[in-house]
Amino acid sequence: MIRFAALARLWLVLALAIPGAVGMLAPSRFHAGALAASPDGTRCEPASWHVVETANFRILSYGAAPVSPQTAAACERQRDRLARQWLGDVDAETWSPKCHVVLHPTDESYLREVGNGGRATIASSLVDRKDGRICLRRIDVRATRSDWLTTALGHELAHMVLAERFVDQALPRWVDEGMAILADPRDRRERHQRALKRAVARGTQFRLVELLALADYPPADRWGTFYGQSASLVEYLVEQQGQGRFVEFVELAAAHGCEDALRRVYGVGIGELERRWHRRLTAPSDPTATANSLNPRARSSVSPLAS
Ligand SMILES: [Zn+2]
Repeated sequence: MIRFAALARLWLVLALAIPGAVGMLAPSRFHAGALAASPDGTRCEPASWHVVETANFRILSYGAAPVSPQTAAACERQRDRLARQWLGDVDAETWSPKCHVVLHPTDESYLREVGNGGRATIASSLVDRKDGRICLRRIDVRATRSDWLTTALGHELAHMVLAERFVDQALPRWVDEGMAILADPRDRRERHQRALKRAVARGTQFRLVELLALADYPPADRWGTFYGQSASLVEYLVEQQGQGRFVEFVELAAAHGCEDALRRVYGVGIGELERRWHRRLTAPSDPTATANSLNPRARSSVSPLAS
C-alpha cells in the first residue's frame, strides 16, 4: 500500500497535533515510562523511543531496546536487491533524505498514522516530491506483527525504489502496486492470484483499457481484483522481456501513452495484450514459469508477446 503523496503535507501538519507523530520527529521526548521485559525475562527495562541509523534508513522503534543491527542491515539488503532487480543499479544512490521506518508499538498507533485504509495492512509507505526531487520517504509498520521484515517491508521498499526512478511523475497505480506485489512473499502473491482468478471466473475483472487508465485506486470492493490483476499483468510483461524493458515501457507510456508504448516495446496494442494475457492466465499453469517469473532465464518458457 502506498499513500497519496499529497497527504504528506497533511501528515506534516498532523504531526504537530498527534503525539505519536511528534514522537517520530523527536523520539527522545517520549519516554512514556512503560516497562518492557528484558530479553532474559528477569527484569523490566523502561520502554522508550529509539533511533537506529544506517546509510539509507532512520529506523524508529518503541520498546526496551532499539532494533538489532541485523534488522537494520536487512533493510539495506532489501533496498539493494530491489534496486538491482528493477533499476539495474549496482550501487544505488544514497537516499537523501533517508527513509524513516516507524515501527508502531500498537495497532492503534499504526492506524492513527495511516488511517482506516490501512486496517488490513502491515505497512504503508509515503513519498512526497518537491521541485523534481523526493523530499520525504517514510514507511509506517505495524510492529505488532513480528514478521513485518519478511512479509511487508519488501513491498513498501519496492514503492520507494520505483519512486526514485520516476521522480518527476506519479506511477500509474497498476504499475506501482503490480511491481511492489512481486516483492511480496509467495503465499501473498498466490492469494492475490486467487482473487484475480475468482474475478475472471465471474467475468468481473477489469478490462485492460480500464485498468491501464486508472488514475487512482478503485473502490474498496474491487481491491482484490485490482491488486491481483495488476500483479498478474506486470508479471506477464516482465516475463516477456525482463524488468529493464518493463521500466522502459513505463517511461515511454508516461510520455506517449500506454498504447504507443506497448507497441514500441512489446509490439502489440492493448487489445492484443489483453487477449494474450487472458489466454496465459487461463491456460494450465506452468509452475516453472511462475516460480521463476522474475528470473530473466524463465522468459524462454513463455511465448513472446511480439510473436
Ligand atoms: Zn503497495
